[in-house]
Amino acid sequence: MTVASGHGVLERSRAALQNEFLRGAVRFTTERLRSRKRTATDELGRWEEWRERGRQIRSHTIEHLDYYLKRFADNVRAHGGHVHFAADGREAAAIVTRLVTERQAKRVVKSKSMVSEEIHLNHYLEAQGVEVVETDLGEYIIQLAKEMPSHIIIPSIHKTRAQIRDLFEQAGGEGLTTETAVLAGFARRTLRSQFLSADVGVTGCNFGIAETGSIVLFTNEGNGRMVSTLPGTHIVTMGMERIIPTFADLEVMANLLPRSATGQKLTAYMSVITGPRRVDEWDGPDELHVVILDNGRSAQLGDDEFQAVLHCIRCGACLNVCPVYRQIGGHAYGSVYPGPIGAVLTPLLNPGGEYHDLPYASSLCGACFEACPVKIPLHDMLVALRRRNVEQGRVKPLERAAMKGFAAVFAKPGRYRLAMRAARVGQKPLVKDGYITSTFGPLFGWTHTRHAPALAAVPFRERFAGMKQDVQERPQPNRTSDGSPAKAAGSHLPAAGGDGEGGGER
Ligand code: SF4
Repeated sequence: MTVASGHGVLERSRAALQNEFLRGAVRFTTERLRSRKRTATDELGRWEEWRERGRQIRSHTIEHLDYYLKRFADNVRAHGGHVHFAADGREAAAIVTRLVTERQAKRVVKSKSMVSEEIHLNHYLEAQGVEVVETDLGEYIIQLAKEMPSHIIIPSIHKTRAQIRDLFEQAGGEGLTTETAVLAGFARRTLRSQFLSADVGVTGCNFGIAETGSIVLFTNEGNGRMVSTLPGTHIVTMGMERIIPTFADLEVMANLLPRSATGQKLTAYMSVITGPRRVDEWDGPDELHVVILDNGRSAQLGDDEFQAVLHCIRCGACLNVCPVYRQIGGHAYGSVYPGPIGAVLTPLLNPGGEYHDLPYASSLCGACFEACPVKIPLHDMLVALRRRNVEQGRVKPLERAAMKGFAAVFAKPGRYRLAMRAARVGQKPLVKDGYITSTFGPLFGWTHTRHAPALAAVPFRERFAGMKQDVQERPQPNRTSDGSPAKAAGSHLPAAGGDGEGGGER
């Protein structure tokens, strides 16, 4: 899944923040998705109960993943399919490449699959001289642009119509306008011939149903059906966690996923594929192969802090609400999975440290948890990953020293008082109109975008002590026999235990 450049997320974010168009496009689309989601969930009603049911299904499945995975694989085989387990991305890509080359396939059509992005499948296939055609419109656009997806659900969220037109004109050698119908028409014409001439179709898998061995695909363009039925061989790439136990569980997921992803009541095309074409059937491939990928997922099983990351159903809702993603877009994360889920999943699947800075791309506001249809506590995981960084010594010396000093000062009230006194004196050159402003140094990053009020001339503790003394010196009110203040004549305040004017027992 390695796509990060030599820079870290901070440098990539700074560059993204300079791109006003990108920020506007991402904000506009994510806002639209959020508002559609609100409408769709309100219409359904009892959304929190649906979320809880979703969480229970995913939690139960992942706790018993060994059982359900075996059941799923057995049922795929029982219906005539083939199952391949891959320990890592390299092995998964090698399996698919072998299946493709053994069939002497020249062209592969693909529908959207995040796992195939994760394992860089196109790269492996193209290295063998196989032409790979992405058929999801968003994926097709970024394939032509030679980029990676910038959103889990809308891969080309960062592209303008004019940019898309230019890409299509280059690919087709014909003049086009920026109208949606014209652009969609070009893609439809071009891709149709590719579907008909492809030897192998590769799809992802939204859910694998253990009790039947069925593959469930959610698409909005119908391309998933073309890819999975027209070529003679259908290869499915799926993460090992994408299992649900039963068909009944699919009802819950079919309500949660499209509503959370795009605000749709139901996805436009939901395909349930159980085995290859039967002898008495017209449509479907002759062969069905399911490649099940681990690639670091099983390492999260049994880990109390991170196992729940495997509950993810890749709806993208956490991206749409994330105040960081909404400013910097997906490419700044430098990984296939962007946004809050990417900031957690990517370092977990790549424990080597290349992505250790991703958990800092978060304000820890918890909006991702609120948006998640299966209630994954991403904000807790982000904190846990930061803690893990500290435990593994991935902290800058200055930060380490600052935290040590902070702990030492806060451990003793005397030290704290002394430090505050020193800070009140030290802040003087930086205070303007009651606020600390800094144009350089480590404070700049904070005060540049936020108001940092100056420390009060007299600290609260000193004022509080004065207030206490003031209260003690004041004449005490009359007390009733139970110690409560007696009601003053003409007062409109209720007497203790009463109910206002004329209060008392009735
Ligand atoms: S973490 Fe939750 S909200 Fe984010 S993509 Fe996964 S299921 Fe959707």
